[in-house]
Amino acid sequence: MTKEEKLKEIAQQVAQCQKCSLYQGTNKAVPGDGSSEAKVMFIGEGPGYWEDQTGLPFVGAAGKLLDKLLQSIELERKEVFIGNVIKHRPSENRDPLPDEIEACRPFLDEQIRTIKPKIIVTLGRYSMNKFLPGEKISQIHGQARYVDFSEKRYIVISMYHPAAALRSGRIMDEIKKDFLKIKLFLEDQPNKKAATKTEEVDQQMKLI
Ligand code: SF4
Repeated sequence: MTKEEKLKEIAQQVAQCQKCSLYQGTNKAVPGDGSSEAKVMFIGEGPGYWEDQTGLPFVGAAGKLLDKLLQSIELERKEVFIGNVIKHRPSENRDPLPDEIEACRPFLDEQIRTIKPKIIVTLGRYSMNKFLPGEKISQIHGQARYVDFSEKRYIVISMYHPAAALRSGRIMDEIKKDFLKIKLFLEDQPNKKAATKTEEVDQQMKLI
């Protein structure tokens, strides 16, 4: 089975899933979308109104901002993969519950194992907590960490959720700067240490 076929299979399983109650009252499942060969995988929280209507991730105002941020580092949406911790929209956009996140976890895990991106970018605290539990996004946003997951080492960069950036000029400035780091890590040599590179990136940011 190709990677693309595997992602389609996961999407079909998501569409039929009733492992938690979130599927009730939704229009469409939102399994995630993008390239099976993506070097960068973005993981948000869960679908909102427009995502539920279309079945696609990040298509509302936050999605438009995400597209602009991608353009700022010369990436197109079709080159990356965008997914969520939760695949069905919680009613009234409430926060997902721990047991709902746990029920949905195997789908995201399998998407990561299938795509094997070089960089995972977490958007918001729920996806950050998946890889870096106990951390605070205000303290670690924009930092790159090595995280071992399913027998592979990933570079994980935590960022604010784009919806938060739409509500705050300060967070907007932070997320724009943090996005530039994705580009630097994509251009990085494979065996450099992420921590070392972070220091280099931070030095370069001071020069901009
Ligand atoms: S949110 Fe996830 S676990 Fe819950 S029904 Fe949807 S796909 Fe299944």
